[in-house]
Amino acid sequence: MENLFDTPDSVLQNWLAEQRQPPFRQKQIRQAALQPGIVDFEQMSNLPKALRQRLGETFRLRSMRPVAQTGSPQSSAEKFLLELADGNRIETVVLHNDRGEPTLCVSTQVGCAMRCAFCASGMNGVVRNLTSGEILEQFLFAADHLKATADAPLSHAVIMGMGEPTANLDALLAALEIVVAPEGLGLGARKITLSTVGTPTGIDRLAQCGRPYHLAISLHAPNDELRSQLIPANRVFPIQPLLEAADRYFNATGRRVTCEYILLAGLNDRDEHATQLARLLKHRCALVNLIPYNPVKELPFQTPSAKQVRRFAEILEKAGIPVVTRHRKGDAIDAACGQLRASHKNP
Ligand code: SAH
Repeated sequence: MENLFDTPDSVLQNWLAEQRQPPFRQKQIRQAALQPGIVDFEQMSNLPKALRQRLGETFRLRSMRPVAQTGSPQSSAEKFLLELADGNRIETVVLHNDRGEPTLCVSTQVGCAMRCAFCASGMNGVVRNLTSGEILEQFLFAADHLKATADAPLSHAVIMGMGEPTANLDALLAALEIVVAPEGLGLGARKITLSTVGTPTGIDRLAQCGRPYHLAISLHAPNDELRSQLIPANRVFPIQPLLEAADRYFNATGRRVTCEYILLAGLNDRDEHATQLARLLKHRCALVNLIPYNPVKELPFQTPSAKQVRRFAEILEKAGIPVVTRHRKGDAIDAACGQLRASHKNP
């Protein structure tokens, strides 16, 4: 059976013609399929009963099912392990803040090819890209879940789950077009953050897509030697061309770029690293997001003390660089990338 969300309009149109249905059914089906809580064609009450049945025999409206879950609507994060139609598994997280604005953390690939030293997602490499339907379905899954458990609809999304977004950009951008469309899910492009290890070409393509998405770059080190140790992709795309691509992104979209900086005790969290980072960003319109390392069982890294995190932030602030520190939400629920998946191996 074909995923409805990966079925091109032309194919659905032809199929409807074969069923002797008028062309306007396409729009009706597409619109109904995006309503929170509509998980079965049977629920599309504005369609004739026989058509609903034929649709159900031909297309899938949900291709992924939750096989494990941590957290609750009352906790700061709810994490879902979703099994895809081919048995592969991905993670999707709903983060809750004090303002009652749920944020969805979206995966773009099964696994990840980047093999960043501190990340659980890439420990076994990449299996495959998600289809745009599978990316969109994570939004629908969250919308269904929030409709059933909370009053608030989805407020923001971060493309910070498993996978490297620029390695699957076509599928991601196609899914996001439906997410941001007023007749789609209607979530503002400014409320969507894409996080990337950063390929200059990927960032340039994103700048040209015409949507003011918020860009976050996983910088994580202030010099190429250290960054290449942590992020192998840096050997191909070093810091300078990456930051130049970030500057172009800012010029094209007017959106300040965030530089994510994971803090690993004794490795990249020393005072001299903060000073070097400040120098790198001095004349750029960038915000630093400090992320204390979220421990991964199999990995040897340590989280710095709260004092050292504060000290690192202060050095940047004194140099005039805007800083926010991410407070860890995920660790109690295996929310560091890939951890829930790693702890639930397929049978
Ligand atoms: N591949 C993309 C998006 C996925 S990861 C990227 O690299 O940006 C989202 C963010 O979480 C990245 O900044 C990533 O480096 C960070 N991250 C990965 N593992 C982490 C860990 N164990 N603790 C804290 N942050 C982590």
